Amino acid sequence: MASTIIDLRSDTVTQPTAAMRAAMLSAPLGDDVFGDDPTVNALQSRIAAMLGKEDALFLPTGTQSNLTALMSHCQRGDEFIVGQGAHTYRYEGGGGAVLGSIQPQPITNQSDGTLALADIEGAIKPDDAHFARTRLLCLENTFGGQVLSMDYLREATALARRHGLATHLDGARLFNAAVAMAADGGDAKGHARDTSGPRAVAREMADLFDTVSVCFSKGLGAPVGSALVGSRELIGRAHRIRKMLGGGMRQAGVLAAAALHALEHHIDRLADDHRLAAQLSEGLQGLPGVVQAPAHTNMIFVDLAPGRAERAGTVQRLRERGLLCTGLVKLRLVTHLDVNEQDIHRAIGILRETL
Ligand SMILES: *Cc1c(COP(=O)(O)O)cnc(C)c1O
Repeated sequence: MASTIIDLRSDTVTQPTAAMRAAMLSAPLGDDVFGDDPTVNALQSRIAAMLGKEDALFLPTGTQSNLTALMSHCQRGDEFIVGQGAHTYRYEGGGGAVLGSIQPQPITNQSDGTLALADIEGAIKPDDAHFARTRLLCLENTFGGQVLSMDYLREATALARRHGLATHLDGARLFNAAVAMAADGGDAKGHARDTSGPRAVAREMADLFDTVSVCFSKGLGAPVGSALVGSRELIGRAHRIRKMLGGGMRQAGVLAAAALHALEHHIDRLADDHRLAAQLSEGLQGLPGVVQAPAHTNMIFVDLAPGRAERAGTVQRLRERGLLCTGLVKLRLVTHLDVNEQDIHRAIGILRETL
């Protein structure tokens, strides 16, 4: 009786909504390599303004956006400090090293996703010919669905600046972080709610970093695309690097239109994804042999006690019952635009049966 499949592998699996498709169809287009695409230009101005930066660049993927950022900040033989579990280090094919000749200096992420300030400071090399030149600190928010607090981001970026490092935020899910922080009462300065809504929080976060990369293709629900924001000078360099990396696109406005639509209509609704993840987590409480981290934003991670069936087998059995998830490290379940409360109830049923 399995009806439609519930796909909780990632928030990247969403289909563009009818309204998003309509926006894509009607977007004015031009050749963006000539700088002529009005929709790409509108998106770049929009996201730069939203995040309080001088300029922005539209890129096909978050991976290319992060790599472009690394190569815009660092020269050959420079080094960036990054979490062991960070996407930029672990999940991007080693692009910084391979294509940028930039050495990663990975640091163990704490259980809350942060890098300990003492570890960052300890990894910064003195100016000495033995060492690669430490140039950049890369953080990620959300990290594995967890929100790094504004206080932490403030301290870490201040530390980086004291040591003359540039700062980059992999904000693939920046707006998930911002929505969660805003729901939590805004930033640590205790602003009134109207000045600490998700957009204000996102901007405040971006203020702390030289560059920020944001994905439109995750929770925001666009089919393709990321943006890198920063100073006019840095984005000018990034533009050349994007070209070099093969990311110059032509009538890309058809994609930028989806991203613009997402910025307009899909930020506040991320709170629904967070609510559904919390419901999913709650529905799995108390299962023997099942270890669950608390739900954060739109993700939950489930682990099986040692001795239980191994993960790959579990992922397969869930799939046979109509629930898709990933099992790379733990079982990961991600809520998004294309699942509703009914799907989550069914998912809980399938998980309880299977686990
Ligand atoms: C998804 C993701 C990216 C970029 O992924 P692409 O698939 O290349 O768009 C970068 N960082 C984080 C944290 C991500 O989750």
